[in-house]
Amino acid sequence: MLSFWERESFVEYDYLVIGGGLVGLSAAAALIEKEPQAEIAVLERGIFPSGASTKNAGFACFGSLTELQSEINETNADAMLQRVERRWKGLDLLKKRLGEQNIGLENYGGYELISDKEIPKIQGIKEVNKLLKGIFPVVDVFRDESQKIKPFGFSESGVKKLIFNPYEAQIHTGKMMKSLQKYVQSRGVTLLTSTEVKQIDTSSPDRIVLHVLPHAAKEYVHFTAPKALLCSNAFSSELMPELGVKPGRGQVLITEPINGLKFKGTFHFDEGFYYFRDFGSQVLFGGGRNQDLETETSTLMALNAKIQADLIQKMTEVILPHTDFKIKYQWAGIMGFTEDRNPILKEIKPNLWAGVGLNGMGVALGSLLGQDLADKIAKV
Ligand SMILES: Cc1cc2nc3c(=O)[nH]c(=O)nc-3n(C[C@H](O)[C@H](O)[C@H](O)COP(=O)(O)OP(=O)(O)OC[C@H]3O[C@@H](n4cnc5c(N)ncnc54)[C@H](O)[C@@H]3O)c2cc1C
Repeated sequence: MLSFWERESFVEYDYLVIGGGLVGLSAAAALIEKEPQAEIAVLERGIFPSGASTKNAGFACFGSLTELQSEINETNADAMLQRVERRWKGLDLLKKRLGEQNIGLENYGGYELISDKEIPKIQGIKEVNKLLKGIFPVVDVFRDESQKIKPFGFSESGVKKLIFNPYEAQIHTGKMMKSLQKYVQSRGVTLLTSTEVKQIDTSSPDRIVLHVLPHAAKEYVHFTAPKALLCSNAFSSELMPELGVKPGRGQVLITEPINGLKFKGTFHFDEGFYYFRDFGSQVLFGGGRNQDLETETSTLMALNAKIQADLIQKMTEVILPHTDFKIKYQWAGIMGFTEDRNPILKEIKPNLWAGVGLNGMGVALGSLLGQDLADKIAKV
């Protein structure tokens, strides 16, 4: 039972945000920047953000050469360019808001590993660079740096070409999310964790009511605000199935430190289905959803033995064929996918907006989607 004081001070806000991942926190940040006096609460069901934002690989990327080519094939060059521009602007906003040091930004560039059968795909490198000139006018985005295959220690039979992108960088995912939490809290946003929204009530014309059942309690707590944002990404399939966001689990592992690790940077292969990077002298490696798509269409935070074994095999055969390594830790995170690969930004009900379905590139897009949400509902 709530007291008079609790009702007075703890449950009524100007804005409520469901989900404390990158998008929810970025939306709260953008709202408080616009309206410093506003009462804003972010309701996060995990003890800390518990979807994709604290589980990811920390690639500050906007698409590899073959990924951008397949985006052109699926839509057209203009649509690809619009997406790249948004990803690039999103990264800029993230860096400016939190500071490069606070997100652990390191710029060693990114590489795509090209196998024998993919060589025809890279013929179009000049065309793609030309298209991207409007966004990156000075230095070409993609160039052949296959001379690094041997010094990096990769399998020379598995990797035939290496395409370098000097604009790609890496961040420290944990530092970035902690900095974002600190940023919003320092400006007066209330961050409530272990607070799962069970139901969204939109029946009142001037209030959105969020029903929360606290752990071990029998009675719901009702949070209210004139406006609310749904930023629960993959888990929107539970609260708002009609949005059609499909969960996609991603498997990740990290090695113990490796003496004399030969490469630095972010790396992709197999059209982005696999990705790895250095973390100091450790290697973080993830992906392989395409090996078991059905099982990985899940919101269950669990390891997939088949995919984890595939990652270890690829690490042994392709990435570190001449080096002993030990796995330190393995984990999984859940992404939210949309049919057309674009995030959903939509008013679902009057004064209830959704910003969900970041697909696999939320580090780049999350800040901008948060900004868009704030622009839609803020008074100024
Ligand atoms: C393994 C993996 C690797 C990735 N690597 C990269 C990468 O290198 N680069 C990149 O750009 N992107 C990467 N991504 C994608 C990126 O992490 C996501 O696109 C981004 O974090 C999505 O942010 P979000 O805030 O929309 O979602 P989330 O981070 O999933 O946040 C949603 C939040 O809502 C909360 N929530 C859900 N339901 C409720 C409820 N009912 N009540 C209250 N709270 C709720 C969840 O606990 C969660 O914290 C990766 C993702 C994964 C899983």
